Amino acid sequence: MTERVYFDNAATTSLDPRVAEAMRPWLGEEFGNPSSLHSFGHRAREIVDRARGQLAALLGARSDEIVFTASGTEADNLALTGVAEAHGAGDCHIVTSSIEHPAVLETCRYLERRGVEVSYLPVDSEGIVDPGALAGAMRPTTRLVSVMAANNVVGTVQPIAELARIAHEHGALFHTDAVQALSKLPIDVQAQEIDLLSLSAHKLYGPQGVGALYVRRGIELAELIHGGGQERGLRSGTENVAGLIGLGEAAELVQAEMREDAPRLVGLSDRIIETLGERIPNAYLIGHRYRRLPGHLCLGFRGQENEGITLLLELDEAGIAASSGSACSAQHAAESSYVLTSMGFDPIRARGSLRVTLGRFTTEAEVDRFLEVLPQAVASLRPITSHVLLGA
Ligand code: PLP
Repeated sequence: MTERVYFDNAATTSLDPRVAEAMRPWLGEEFGNPSSLHSFGHRAREIVDRARGQLAALLGARSDEIVFTASGTEADNLALTGVAEAHGAGDCHIVTSSIEHPAVLETCRYLERRGVEVSYLPVDSEGIVDPGALAGAMRPTTRLVSVMAANNVVGTVQPIAELARIAHEHGALFHTDAVQALSKLPIDVQAQEIDLLSLSAHKLYGPQGVGALYVRRGIELAELIHGGGQERGLRSGTENVAGLIGLGEAAELVQAEMREDAPRLVGLSDRIIETLGERIPNAYLIGHRYRRLPGHLCLGFRGQENEGITLLLELDEAGIAASSGSACSAQHAAESSYVLTSMGFDPIRARGSLRVTLGRFTTEAEVDRFLEVLPQAVASLRPITSHVLLGA
C-alpha cells in the first residue's frame, strides 16, 4: 500500500508523539480532580496550573488570564456572548468580518436574535479586512470587535494589531480567533493589543476537544457554563486534566519550534505554487500571495471549479488527503464557500477550491508526490459548461 499523505492540517493536526507521551500517565495510573483537597487533587491542580503557564508563555500573557475551554468553538462563544451579556444585549454592538469561522458567525446570529446589533465587515478579493472600513463601522455602543488572526479556508492573515488599535481608539474590546494562526505566526497579546483570543489544541499538534480563551486581566465576561465554578466561574466543569497537559505541552513545542517550522513550511508551499504554475496552466492561488499562513494554500483551477469534489476524491484515491474548504462544512462541500463569495467569487467558482495545508510532519517527498499526482488529477476533470452555469 502507498504511504498516505496528510495535507489537511487546517482541519486537524496529528498528535505530536511528544505531546502524547506527556499525556500518557494521566490516561492511566495518574488521576485526580483538581478541585479535591487531598494529595491526588493537589497533584492534578499543579499539573493544570503548569499547562496554564505554558500556554500563557506562548501568548505573552499571565497564567491567570487563561480560561480553559473544551474547544476553539467554545472559546469563541465565551468571548462574544461573555462580552454581550456582561453589557446587556440592548446596549451592545459588535463588529466582525464576513469571513469568520461559523463559531463566531453563528454566535453573532444567536446574539442578534437576542437584540445585539452586529456589523459584518466586507473583505477584499484577497480576503483582507480594510482597517478603514472598521473605523467607519464603529459606533458609541460598539463593545467588541472580533476579527480572526488568519482565515481557515484561504489562509489570509489579517492586520490584527492595526484593527485592535482602532477598536481601542473607539473604546471597544478586541477579540481574535487565532485557532488557525497560533501554530504558524508569532502572537503576543501585549504587543498586538489583543484583549480576548481563542485557540484550540487540535490545531497545535495537541488533542481534540481542548481549547482556551485568553482574557486580559480586568475584563468582565458573563459566564457561559453554569456549575461548580471552575475556570473562574466562566465555564464550570471538571477540568480535562490529560487534555490540558496536552495543550500545555503543545504550546511549549510551538514556542520552541515555530521559528524553524514556519520558514520550512513557507519554502514547501512556495515550491508547490511555483511548480503548479509550470505544470497546471489553469491553476491559481486564492487569497493573498504573501500575507498567508505558512504552509496554507487554497487553489482554484480556472474553468474546472465545479469539479472540486471529484478532485478531492481523485486525490484521496491516490492517498493524498486535502480539503475543499473547512472540515466543518464537509456536509456542504458541494455548496459555494461563503468565504470565497465574500471575496467576490461568483457562486460557481466559489464551489471548487482545493485547500492544501502542510504541517510539522510534512516532508519534501510528500510534496514531490503531490506535485506528481495533482496535474494528472486536474487533467481528468471535466470543464465547466454552460449546462453547469445555468444550474441544470
Ligand atoms: N475557528 C477557526 C478559525 C477554526 O478553523 C476552527 C476549526 O476549524 C474553529 C474556530 C473551531 O475550533 P474547534 O474545532 O476546536 O471547535
